[in-house]
Amino acid sequence: MRLDAAVTEATERLSTNSDSARLDAEILLCQCINMDRSYLFAHPEDILDDLAIARFEKLLQRRTAGEPIAYIMGAKEFWSQNFLVSPATLVPRPETELLVELALREIPRKADWQVLDLGTGCGAIAIAIAAERQMCDVTATDISTDALAIAKQNVRQASFGNVTCIEGNWTEPVAGQRFRVIVCNPPYVRADDNRLQALKYEPLLALVSGKDGLDAIRVLARDCGALLEEEGLLLVEHGAEQSDAVASIFAAAGWGDIACHNDLAGIPRVTAARWDGK
Ligand code: GLN
Repeated sequence: MRLDAAVTEATERLSTNSDSARLDAEILLCQCINMDRSYLFAHPEDILDDLAIARFEKLLQRRTAGEPIAYIMGAKEFWSQNFLVSPATLVPRPETELLVELALREIPRKADWQVLDLGTGCGAIAIAIAAERQMCDVTATDISTDALAIAKQNVRQASFGNVTCIEGNWTEPVAGQRFRVIVCNPPYVRADDNRLQALKYEPLLALVSGKDGLDAIRVLARDCGALLEEEGLLLVEHGAEQSDAVASIFAAAGWGDIACHNDLAGIPRVTAARWDGK
């Protein structure tokens, strides 16, 4: 079979499951022939051998079953860097780049601040901030040993040495330390949310947080103040309909300057709050 025919056929098969069927087909095919996408356009008439066809078929079956491309490939791009991911880590989302953007807006270019990323998963947020602010020390924590192992590999792959990974539950592994900025993309999906079916390949631990999806955010509101320097900033990602509830939780826990920021799709996505040091 020719490469272009393989793409066309696979696109058709994937189009019921994926809204990026053609791109998915191209990415998976490239994985099988060990070439990048430009090769497909330059050599549409190349013939796939039987081994490659068999490999392609296996990958197509995983994708049609709903497995995210990122897990099939073992990698996902975030903040223009390629990160290893595994089923122990959430797949980094483009909207989460807002967390990075807001942290960078807060941290001056030459600052040598201590920054904390709680529940780092594959480490994408921590590593993106560390890349842009190489004088800062970024600490990344996660309760999942398997997720943290992936984060450590991603840290190793990045050539700068300013990220430290520590295993533990939320703030526990860094108790007694002080940070100038804390970022977190916590689990925030409601336990009974219908969307979970579509997210079935991703770790529940990283997605779900109690009945209303806000349990983890309550823990952050309660415990992060003690870790922040005076006027320190906390940035927390949350769901589209959660901004009012999140603001109330932070206000009740004594936080000030509470502000919600929209992502590129115009959806309320990250709430910032400042600790007054008391
Ligand atoms: N952003 C994810 C989603 O709704 C949820 C991630 C999370 O809970 N942190 O698809």
